[in-house]
Amino acid sequence: MIVGAERHWPPYDRPPLSKQVLTGAWDAERARLRVEDSLDVELLLGCRAVALDLAAGAVALADGTTVAFDGLVIATGAAPRTLRATEGMAGVHVLRTVEDCIALSADLRSARRVVVVGAGFIGCEVAASCRTLGIDVALVEALERPLVRVLGAEMGAFAANLHRTNGVELHLGVGVEGISGDGSVEQVILSDGTQLAADVVVVGIGVAPSTGWLDGSGLLIDDGVVCDASCVAVGSEGRVVAAGDVARWTNPLFDQSMRVEHWTNAGEQGAHAARALIHGAAVAGEFAPVPYFWSDQHGTKLQFLGTCRPGDEVAVVEGSVEEAKFVAAYGRDGVTVGALCVGWPARTVPHRAAIERRAAFPPSLDDPLPARS
Ligand SMILES: Cc1cc2nc3c(=O)[nH]c(=O)nc-3n(C[C@H](O)[C@H](O)[C@H](O)COP(=O)(O)OP(=O)(O)OC[C@H]3O[C@@H](n4cnc5c(N)ncnc54)[C@H](O)[C@@H]3O)c2cc1C
Repeated sequence: MIVGAERHWPPYDRPPLSKQVLTGAWDAERARLRVEDSLDVELLLGCRAVALDLAAGAVALADGTTVAFDGLVIATGAAPRTLRATEGMAGVHVLRTVEDCIALSADLRSARRVVVVGAGFIGCEVAASCRTLGIDVALVEALERPLVRVLGAEMGAFAANLHRTNGVELHLGVGVEGISGDGSVEQVILSDGTQLAADVVVVGIGVAPSTGWLDGSGLLIDDGVVCDASCVAVGSEGRVVAAGDVARWTNPLFDQSMRVEHWTNAGEQGAHAARALIHGAAVAGEFAPVPYFWSDQHGTKLQFLGTCRPGDEVAVVEGSVEEAKFVAAYGRDGVTVGALCVGWPARTVPHRAAIERRAAFPPSLDDPLPARS
């Protein structure tokens, strides 16, 4: 049985919501996932889980009913953080669901000037999509560069340049003091006193794992559902697993506690967690992936493999930054831990392999890697 707060079936894919669907290149229907006809599953959609009773093996639902389980997969994802005092103000948006995307698209149709708050990957993609639509856009970020948390400062500078050269007005190292308007948004006031006119504001300041319904359940919650290395929830005695944006575990490949908010991980971790639930942690083994995400901005594909932390060494090991076709490798304690491939999908394969085998940093291109293309 699948219990889900959203009503859509087949379910839909989120990545196109900030890209093809937002620019109008696809209609929203095209974002639907394909589901095997043979999938024999009972659906309880439009139905929110509100509590977990581990001892009874039951999940309580918002309509007052409960469902019993022998095994439970927690895959409640994450929800966007919002800005204080903007709830209900017309023209202020977040982007997580297809409904969010449709509402934002409708407002963009008549928008002359958009302010995007937060230059993480959602904010950067929305800014790029606004430029595709020919709309003036300002991107505001409290840190010194866009995408710093995921790419680090050096490659954040590349991202800043990519946005500037494509006509995005950047306001970096500055916070948002407030958003004002008479019923609908008119202005974003920055902490340095700058006032930005806006008829649409998109808030992309990150997400919080959806764990509120697990309060008091006895599971360990710490910025996500804390799991062991095989994705079994700590405190559940093997009856509960977690996967996707909501799950935190220590990835043995990096000996690092992580919660990965990316599409590929949701699928891979879901499969691993299901194995652990059905066959046991010993059979499933440890979940030790090289995390991966892609992002499309201004016609440039960014693909990141592995991890990035403040203090990592970064070196461009292939290609040319000027031509926006290069690979930057990331090193920690002499080991290759990450790679950013820009405009060069074919190079993800060898760089993933270098991270997987913990190659010395910088990775040697004399290694027997597939030919460059
Ligand atoms: C606009 C957008 C663009 C993206 N683009 C990219 C990209 O280019 N590349 C990339 O790698 N990743 C991208 N991502 C991230 C990727 O989509 C997520 O990592 C992925 O959706 C996570 O899947 P999930 O199943 O863990 O969580 P979700 O997709 O959030 O699904 C969780 C589901 O659980 C439901 N739920 C929550 N709480 C409850 C409850 N109490 N009871 C019942 N149901 C509940 C939610 O309503 C939701 O339907 C993007 C995300 C967004 C929003």
